[in-house]
Amino acid sequence: MSPPVADLQSLRERIRDVPDFPEPGIVFKDITPLLQHGPSLARACELLAEPYLDRGIDLVVGIESRGFIFGPPVALRLGAGFQLARKRGKLPWQTVREKYGLEYGEDEIEMHRDAVASGQRVLVLDDVIATGGTAAATVRLVQGLGGKVVGASFLIELGFLGGRAALGELPVSVVLSY
Ligand code: AMP
Repeated sequence: MSPPVADLQSLRERIRDVPDFPEPGIVFKDITPLLQHGPSLARACELLAEPYLDRGIDLVVGIESRGFIFGPPVALRLGAGFQLARKRGKLPWQTVREKYGLEYGEDEIEMHRDAVASGQRVLVLDDVIATGGTAAATVRLVQGLGGKVVGASFLIELGFLGGRAALGELPVSVVLSY
């Protein structure tokens, strides 16, 4: 018998709202219950990859930190490589850097300066798009390194924060919208 397939509603039921984390007024979308459940984890990765199956993606760029969880399985599904966009000061080698605003604060994001080869077709990936600031900064980094960003894929969109607008014309796909 084949394993059970998780539907969208059961994925949604495995995302836990944590009020006032990491600070008052933020409702944090906790994905750990979804990660705990094998069929949901598999379905989430499949749905993150699906819109890009025939798009010739060379590289998935995952955004710290939960983009590192979904990035490698999505990259494997797409036959692509994987690279990291990290918070400032975490990468060991030479980096390029962009500032961005968060739903809660401001920060900088970095990639290794050889993380993307010129002309590579890139999918940017994270668990949540809130204001879109982090993803937009990551797109700028990839483009600055000579990559072609084909799209951005997220498990969760907080639609009321309007994050898609920060990504302009870039195709954005999401699994679950709130
Ligand atoms: P933003 O740049 O505002 O789109 O924020 C996106 C980044 O912050 C992602 O890496 C998310 O993981 C994280 N994030 C922002 N808001 C939330 C939230 N309400 N719940 C969980 N993660 C969030």
